[in-house]
Amino acid sequence: MRVLVTGGAGYIGSGVVEELLASGHRAVVYDNLYKGHRDAVHPAAEFVHADLLDAKALHAAISGADAVVHLAAHSLVGESVQEPAKYYRNNVVAGLALADAMREHGVRWLVFSSTAAVYGEPAKQPIEETDPTAPTNPYGETKLAFENALRWYSAAYGLRSISLRYFNAAGATARCRERHEPETHLVPVVLQAAAGRIPEVTIFGADYPTPDGTCVRDYIHVSDLARAHLLALQALAAGHAGGSYNLGCGGSGYSVMQVIEVARSVSGRDIRLRIGPRRPGDPAVLVANSQRIMRDLGWRPRLQDLREIVRSAWEPLKP
Ligand code: UDP
Repeated sequence: MRVLVTGGAGYIGSGVVEELLASGHRAVVYDNLYKGHRDAVHPAAEFVHADLLDAKALHAAISGADAVVHLAAHSLVGESVQEPAKYYRNNVVAGLALADAMREHGVRWLVFSSTAAVYGEPAKQPIEETDPTAPTNPYGETKLAFENALRWYSAAYGLRSISLRYFNAAGATARCRERHEPETHLVPVVLQAAAGRIPEVTIFGADYPTPDGTCVRDYIHVSDLARAHLLALQALAAGHAGGSYNLGCGGSGYSVMQVIEVARSVSGRDIRLRIGPRRPGDPAVLVANSQRIMRDLGWRPRLQDLREIVRSAWEPLKP
């Protein structure tokens, strides 16, 4: 398959491209490099440096594609609350431009990068796909809006899609690692502290109703996440009608404090901590029930152990 990967120069996108190429597919990375990195584009992939709202570039890139994996998006919860227009424009308006270009060129299979943020403050754990969606910020809201648009596009235009609701992507592979500027995600922040690049880690709240008071999340290795995109593409090509899937390792998740302990142990370094206030919009616990994707697509996480996930992220960072 020739697959257009929007956001393919980003953290998860470069992991998806790596999986596609390793499975014998061709990949065209479409990225405006707003957050992505040119050197994260796999040398065996084609590269189009353009924005999704550049209609000419988009149409040229999409003609000849068999399928699309759409990851290009803004993805910071706090920023989305401050600047909702930015999120609606990039995550909804640009997404619809992509879906419309696909219709025009007869490209019928789309894998969409969605998020656990579509659930908002969940009523129960672990979260199932049938649980209510009630986003608490524009990031989750815009991802859900596009998921919903895709359902209508499927019914009306036959554009079939699978939305993958990511929980907490973490870890690195030989070719893909987290390099956000500024970095806000827990695992890389903690490892930056271990490497001495930042003086300390601030824990955003230690008064949550969890065993140690810090938030619990479901960490999934980026290569496990990336492989799910490939399985989703294969399923679409085999006639899968489309839908939404949670993507996390499940179990009981790990607290912020547990992540820090594991990072201390893996790096062999001290990590200085500060307890700060809660970060607005953070639910206490977010853990996936991923039975549906396991059952329907045969997906299984291979790197479930937090130690392995953190170790892979530490490898390229260690001094
Ligand atoms: N977190 C923290 N300090 C940091 C970064 C994150 O305490 O410097 C916490 C955050 O409040 C959340 C968890 O770590 O409970 C995971 O946050 P992250 O931003 O990595 O992912 P999110 O769950 O927001 O997608």
